[in-house]
Amino acid sequence: MMKHKIKVEEYIGWQINSSSCSFWWDDWLGRGAIANYTSSVSSLNNATVAHFLVDGKWNERKLRQLVPPLLIPSILNTKIQLVQGIKDTTVWKQTEATKFSCTSAWDMCRTKKEHTILNAQIWHKYILFKISFLLWRALRYKLPTNEILAAFEVEPVKCFCCLKQGWDEVDHIFIQGHFAGKNVAQTTIIETLPIVICWNLWKNRCSAKYGGKLPGSWPEVVDCIAK
Ligand SMILES: [Zn+2]
Repeated sequence: MMKHKIKVEEYIGWQINSSSCSFWWDDWLGRGAIANYTSSVSSLNNATVAHFLVDGKWNERKLRQLVPPLLIPSILNTKIQLVQGIKDTTVWKQTEATKFSCTSAWDMCRTKKEHTILNAQIWHKYILFKISFLLWRALRYKLPTNEILAAFEVEPVKCFCCLKQGWDEVDHIFIQGHFAGKNVAQTTIIETLPIVICWNLWKNRCSAKYGGKLPGSWPEVVDCIAK
């Protein structure tokens, strides 16, 4: 929470109205809190921006006495349009609308995982979750095969997929095993899938034309193919 608080604070700016925000601790200048540029300000110092104004203009003498010199030009260039009676308000610098939104805050805090082609294929919207999840586990060796069971001191076992058995391991089951190794499964699917797709597209067309059914939506057609 604290980690996110620090990160999010960078994106909170201030709209000056009656100069009521903290001169030292609020980021009204757009360069972070001024207190961060000096060690001579106590955390209890609650002077507002108004404390540094005289008749709506910057009190340059006071600024030069208390503020680090490198910030003086920026402060003097900040035009203050005083709106009496209205408290200064925070603005959210992350979005153009300057209004805070949980979505933009979450977007900022979360660590975005790389969007890989492999991930997009595994988590395809037309693939059932259980199938995607199986593949995800297989790629991370998170299936209850010899590799994982060894950590629980379970004796490795021979595979269940071949007549001439190998070991019950992820690489064997999905890549090197008798059935997988010869790519029988993959080849069969790749070779037959276009035919199955064409068949279902034709079926969809005919049931719409002769069967009085409404044309199937794309997900419905995909559903038929998946079956
Ligand atoms: Zn096998």
